[in-house]
Amino acid sequence: MLYFIDRIDFVGDAPECHFQDKGVRHSVRKGIAHIVRDENGQEFVAGPSCARRHTKDTNWGERVPDFTKGALMVPVEAHPGGGGGAAGPRADDDGEPLENVDDFAVAYLRLRFEKLAKMGFVGAAHAKLEPRYQEWLQHKTLSESARTHIKNIEKMEGQQYDTFRMARLQKCYAVAFLIQAALKNPIKDYDRKYLDSYNTWIKKNYMLTVPQMDTLRKIFANLKDPLFSRVQLTNF
Ligand SMILES: [Zn+2]
Repeated sequence: MLYFIDRIDFVGDAPECHFQDKGVRHSVRKGIAHIVRDENGQEFVAGPSCARRHTKDTNWGERVPDFTKGALMVPVEAHPGGGGGAAGPRADDDGEPLENVDDFAVAYLRLRFEKLAKMGFVGAAHAKLEPRYQEWLQHKTLSESARTHIKNIEKMEGQQYDTFRMARLQKCYAVAFLIQAALKNPIKDYDRKYLDSYNTWIKKNYMLTVPQMDTLRKIFANLKDPLFSRVQLTNF
């Protein structure tokens, strides 16, 4: 079976890596995974080293979008006594992330159409970009004129409102993902109300205010889910 790395993305829990290492099951590092596709288009979660090992021919030279750049992920400390092969899956923390990431135009299109639009961000799937996204879906590559067009749209929209710049969209995706992950935790009713309102707000305004971000960080700090001890969010 041939595998391709499709993207680097947030994952909500700590699923097992699709690739067993000599039959040993292990989990993917909390929060972020390499999503691989097989020849039939089915997606699997993998750790960085396994993903690389299984796609070094198929992904040769390809720049894979990293949709997790909007949040700084704090490295996981190695488990004491890890690798002893005792009960439980070991962590898949042995791999460096891919270096060769982000073909800008492709990453920008996919972030808007496959991530933000599907989460309900208003205007993310912009009509001007739709033909470009269809072009990429069909050919899995973009012409030079399409690339220029996409870069200009990012720059122009950014000049006027600063809303649709890549860095801001990456942050929007990270924050919206984390809000949704937080809502799955046991939290107090009034915190839940804040999260619900921020969830609606960010999808209309493509930002949160400084006080909103402060509250968000406080809510995240109280969650037991280890994902939230790994993320650091800067203000918009
Ligand atoms: Zn693995």
